[in-house]
Amino acid sequence: MECIFCNIKDRKAEAEIIFEDEYVLAFLDIQPVNYGHTLVIPKLHYDNFLTVPKDELDKLIHATQFIAGVVKRSLNADGFNVISNNGNPAGQSVYHFHFHIIPRFNKDFTLKPTTKIYGSGTMQEYGSQIRSLISKYKDIYNG
Ligand code: 5GP
Ligand code: ZN
Repeated sequence: MECIFCNIKDRKAEAEIIFEDEYVLAFLDIQPVNYGHTLVIPKLHYDNFLTVPKDELDKLIHATQFIAGVVKRSLNADGFNVISNNGNPAGQSVYHFHFHIIPRFNKDFTLKPTTKIYGSGTMQEYGSQIRSLISKYKDIYNG
């Protein structure tokens, strides 16, 4: 399957690469929300957050933290968003997992979505629904 981010990693497609090591590549997003908007990818292809093996995720998060700090400092940004879209309704358009690092400034736009209000007892219902699957799957988490 053709993947634009694999092509960038393999140098079959051009990108403004800012960081590379054995496991991770970072380059500027071609349609930046703000200038300096960076994408951080694992070199191996995994389609979303849930399919990245733990060891590689550790390396990816470590690199993302480092690059976010450098991007913020080099652009003199006031803050930044680290975002990952997973699945079509979440806005994912490239199915090679990546973190977005978006530099943010005090006089900037807002990324906040509209929020919902829990009805009486509903938060507890959602909590127990999720906790029951946490119990079911916690062996996976504990390895
Ligand atoms: P997603 O929508 O999957 O969360 O993010 C994909 C991002 O990849 C988008 O922000 C989009 O602008 C960026 N993108 C898509 N194609 C290319 C490309 O060919 N080069 C670069 N540098 N970024 C790309
Ligand atoms: Zn890929």
